[in-house]
Amino acid sequence: MEIFKTLIGNNEIKKTLGSAIASSSFSHAYIIEGAQGTGKRLIATLASAGIFCSSSLGRPCMECTSCKRVLDGIHTDVRYFEITKVDQVREIKQGLYDAPNESDFKIYIFENAHKMNIKAQNALLISLEEPPKNVIFFLLTTDAGALLETIRSRAQILRTELLDGEVIFKYLKENLRFGMNDEALREIVIASCGSLGYAIDLTDEKKALELIERRKSALDFTLAVIKNDAYAVSLLLSYSGYGREELKEHLSLCLSVIGDIILLKKDKGAPLYFFTSREEALQIAQKHQLGKLMGVYDALDEAISALNLNSNTALTLMSILVNSKKKGS
Ligand SMILES: [Zn+2]
Repeated sequence: MEIFKTLIGNNEIKKTLGSAIASSSFSHAYIIEGAQGTGKRLIATLASAGIFCSSSLGRPCMECTSCKRVLDGIHTDVRYFEITKVDQVREIKQGLYDAPNESDFKIYIFENAHKMNIKAQNALLISLEEPPKNVIFFLLTTDAGALLETIRSRAQILRTELLDGEVIFKYLKENLRFGMNDEALREIVIASCGSLGYAIDLTDEKKALELIERRKSALDFTLAVIKNDAYAVSLLLSYSGYGREELKEHLSLCLSVIGDIILLKKDKGAPLYFFTSREEALQIAQKHQLGKLMGVYDALDEAISALNLNSNTALTLMSILVNSKKKGS
């Protein structure tokens, strides 16, 4: 029987937690590290269900009362926290030595554990050094490096993985609640960068439309910069009202447009990071000289660096045209 079947990919984690559950031997603390939307909370929840599952094999069975209570978020011995300050840790620690309510263990799941300040982490560390026998901690984080070395060394670290685009595509296709054409789904898959949770998030109709709009304007903008004509100037001006972060995001997307075109110039079979249609990208690549494209790439790249250094947004935008012309000539 396949356990953790609702978790896609992440075979290493399935193996580690699956055998811990099968042999009922657990670490006192697990750190689950991985990018946003890669299933950290789901893993901690499934592991909790597995720990309490009353089935004799294939735990978590997802069917028994214990499993269902954990999955429904109503098991009183599985608690989720999002804490940042030491007072919150102290509060949690007060009940730490109390007996479990309805089972043999108590499970504490800390979401965004990296947001705990140092004092809070130190307070938690004391509990990890002398943990009550029946308590299991799960610290979920996008960055285990932000946790104290002393915490890391007392926990077993599990890392979630990014998924292949095809796996995400297949999942969305099979599970989506409303109809979306394949091209829109491909756009979402590319934008998700391997994070299934983020991809699912983007299938929200409103967010998907925003994404498609952002991608369309990145393509327009990049093509205008390549042409470097009067339209490009008016388009650049229309972006000067953007906030710095928004502009950086936009230019990064433009960078992946030009990146794809340059790669295709060198190798027609190169993997693409922006375009969902190779043919469309190839047509653009054929129209322009490599030197000019490289000039645009450098100018966009420099603009992003300048924005990171707090440069004036309107001036930075204009510098893209001047620099791309200079570099590409
Ligand atoms: Zn069960």
